[in-house]
Amino acid sequence: MSQHFDSIVIGAGYAGAAAAALLANNAKDTLLIEAHYALGGCASFFRRKHFFFDSGATTLSGVLPNQPLGQLQKQLGISFQLSHLPIGMIIKSKQGDIIRYADKNQWIQECNTHFPHPQQADFWNELYRLEKKVWDIVANNPFFPPATATDIFRLAKPSNLKGITLLKGIISPLDALLKHYRLHDNPQFRRFIDEQLIISTQSYADTAPYITSAMGLTYPSQTYYPYGGIVQPVKVIINSFTDNGGTLRTNEAVTAIHKQKNTWLIHTSKGKTFTAKNLISSIPVWNMPSITHDEVRQYYHKKAKRFDFSWGAFMVYFAIETKESLPTAYYQIHTEEIIPHCQSRSFFATISLSDDTGKAPAGWKTVTISTHTLTRHWMEMNDHDYHHAKHQTLEYIMQHFDKHFPQLRHCKKEWINAATPRTFSHYTHRLNGNVGGIPHSIKQNFLTLPHNVTPFKGLYHIGDSAFPGQGTPSVVLGASNVVQRILQE
Ligand SMILES: Cc1cc2nc3c(=O)[nH]c(=O)nc-3n(C[C@H](O)[C@H](O)[C@H](O)COP(=O)(O)OP(=O)(O)OC[C@H]3O[C@@H](n4cnc5c(N)ncnc54)[C@H](O)[C@@H]3O)c2cc1C
Repeated sequence: MSQHFDSIVIGAGYAGAAAAALLANNAKDTLLIEAHYALGGCASFFRRKHFFFDSGATTLSGVLPNQPLGQLQKQLGISFQLSHLPIGMIIKSKQGDIIRYADKNQWIQECNTHFPHPQQADFWNELYRLEKKVWDIVANNPFFPPATATDIFRLAKPSNLKGITLLKGIISPLDALLKHYRLHDNPQFRRFIDEQLIISTQSYADTAPYITSAMGLTYPSQTYYPYGGIVQPVKVIINSFTDNGGTLRTNEAVTAIHKQKNTWLIHTSKGKTFTAKNLISSIPVWNMPSITHDEVRQYYHKKAKRFDFSWGAFMVYFAIETKESLPTAYYQIHTEEIIPHCQSRSFFATISLSDDTGKAPAGWKTVTISTHTLTRHWMEMNDHDYHHAKHQTLEYIMQHFDKHFPQLRHCKKEWINAATPRTFSHYTHRLNGNVGGIPHSIKQNFLTLPHNVTPFKGLYHIGDSAFPGQGTPSVVLGASNVVQRILQE
């Protein structure tokens, strides 16, 4: 006999955790099922002795009251232990340290020091204006993009008229805005912008829509450091879920999904079957064809074929013994050449704050470094080449870390290790270790991403391969929108 639920949510990353907790908070009998024993997905962790490492994502944003993680905390009556960083990030490049102050005016002044230009302030003011407008609009339109005639009707309200002007920013790249402000011909500035964009939109200025770019380029103003690691907010969300009667099953993968009239039936790796009226999948669309059947499989097969590119990540982790108090937790380091076996000329380093004893004992810090790579490169190598390439890339990144942090060069380092798309494929079950969702571009902007509503009644898709795309605030927004739909039915 299979156990029946009102809703089943697949995957306990930020998207699945948020959807499940919101449903349980609304008294919906919900099952959340996670393949790994640890929660968090791409925003998870691993432990080595006294050290706690973020395994993928490290920064939190979108926590203001009108933003997805702010709204989620309010709705669930929970709060995360976060620190708003006055310096959102430091970029270490040939130009010296570029400090991304959280304060807009301080940042514009800093930017003008490194890249002096009469229109620099106008450019950044426009980005901040666009970003605010987007958050206002998404907060008021949970049924966007429309899936039904009723949704179209819901969008027809005066407050949305101002949003029409944003449409141009979806189909024009950031390059167009840079040209408008005559900021396009300084190669150093362009490099700075491109490296900031690749970590926030997964694209460069020639293809990243300028609306998405505005969100990505302004996020260092609202960067929050989660104490104890990025998985801690997920744990708080999951506690709310189970406190409200939700059923959590971990270490158990969904192996098959069947549609049976008005019910969804799932089989799991532990030989169990469960049924529900609503099925919400937060796993990537690329993973879906292997566990679905018939027309549902065909639907996902088409999506997987259409959105066939996603980045992979190369990661380095280590613990470092130092009492040095650093100005921020987040750093982007520019390299002279493309990092071996990767596709990027920069890497992103997160160094735990001195008072974060949840991550490292006093006098120590943990470091998580990530950079973009191609998944196929790592998945197709033989084992010998794989280990050699992994070692080479790790060495390169460690050398550049030491070069840019001379004060840490001679500190004791422990637990130095690296991860590749093979690691992500193993721990997050994401096909080929594809992470970071579908890169935003003018051809594949967020409106063209797979919809949260599928053509099959009761089947919804959330997570970073569906609207509105990658990043913890976006996937929580998608989850929250889907729950609002379910509750309205
Ligand atoms: C290296 C790296 C750095 C990043 N940095 C940031 C950052 O600093 N800030 C930020 O906001 N975003 C960042 N991101 C992006 C962000 O982590 C992701 O977009 C987001 O966490 C995705 O959440 P999700 O819930 O959609 O998917 P996931 O986190 O992938 O969660 C899906 C879950 O489903 C589970 N699962 C898979 N298959 C099955 C199955 N068959 N049955 C049951 N469970 C299954 C997986 O184990 C996983 O836990 C980063 C991503 C990476 C890879």
